Amino acid sequence: MNRSYNFSPGPATLPEEVLQQAKEELLDWRGLGASVMEISHHAPEFQQLMDETEQNLRDLLNIPTNYKVLFIPGGGRGQFSMVPLNLLGGKVIADYLDTGLWSDMAAKEASRYCEVNRVASSAEQKYCTIPEQSSWKHHPQAAYFHYADNETVHGNEFSYVPKLTNVPIVADMSSNILSRTINVTDFALIYAAAQKNIGISGITLVIIREDLLGQALPITPMMFNYTLHAKANSLLNTPPTFPWYITGLVFQWLKKQGGIASIEKINAKKAKKLYDCIDSSSLYINDVHPRYRSRMNVVFKLKDENLDVRFLEASRQSGFIGLKGHKLVGGMRASLYNAFPEQAVDAFVTFLQHFEKTMA
Ligand code: PMP
Repeated sequence: MNRSYNFSPGPATLPEEVLQQAKEELLDWRGLGASVMEISHHAPEFQQLMDETEQNLRDLLNIPTNYKVLFIPGGGRGQFSMVPLNLLGGKVIADYLDTGLWSDMAAKEASRYCEVNRVASSAEQKYCTIPEQSSWKHHPQAAYFHYADNETVHGNEFSYVPKLTNVPIVADMSSNILSRTINVTDFALIYAAAQKNIGISGITLVIIREDLLGQALPITPMMFNYTLHAKANSLLNTPPTFPWYITGLVFQWLKKQGGIASIEKINAKKAKKLYDCIDSSSLYINDVHPRYRSRMNVVFKLKDENLDVRFLEASRQSGFIGLKGHKLVGGMRASLYNAFPEQAVDAFVTFLQHFEKTMA
């Protein structure tokens, strides 16, 4: 068996140990003589899996007891609707920062339910930067402030947590959750689709401060109501059990790696190696402001885009897949999530240097 080095932006590469364990347990999970996909979500074994998974996440992120942890369907886009539906309360305006495709889409979706005040936007800079916080124009009546901590398509990432007073902070961490230490209490709500650093698609993590529950708009569909999900302990409907199981295995794997602090160090090394290679080359270009370069999604272009097809073909032959950039920005994108091994980055750097030489 030959596993590729998989740079896919999500669904993305999983730790090999996780896949092996899932394979071994597929026909007989926890001695039940059935797979985890075939048993009731009310079975005590599944309840145990849920409890262990939540506890491991609480340990990893040091989540205080006044925050609820929810696992719900609907993906990242589901959260674009759930956030305004549940957090507007009596207010009619929300603040959004526009730093790329995903935060822009979140703002557009919210505008179905409220007035959206874009505090700032880097659209004119092709999202190659994040506007300085001193330039953000907040609305005094905003119910909350929403931003994307990491923009998966445009390859920018916050290097700090916005400091705001009197307005709850909502962060889309779909593509960088669990990649570095955070202080959960800096946020009112954090959400993340699972298919990058958590597990596989089909489940979405929401970490919400308890005092924000109980104020959903009356029109809120049952499945979009955080309070109902919290009351039902994330079993409001039949949950995506297999994604939940994979999430559990990924959290166990993360703990075995030494937790977030150690994975953070490895992530920093991986990203630095790749950006250093790009910066020292005369073939590859990354346009993102150095302070805001994403550690998770390294976007780069070849100086001559006519070389793209050859590059992709050569990289594939060398065992690297998932490199084609998003159609909106073109070029290449190397996603370096937690499960992407450091030695694969080393191998890729060697490949990039070799390809450049052969093009000279
Ligand atoms: N936010 C971010 C930052 C994302 O990267 C994505 C998906 N790539 C989404 C939201 C949307 O997630 P989903 O496809 O699960 O709706």
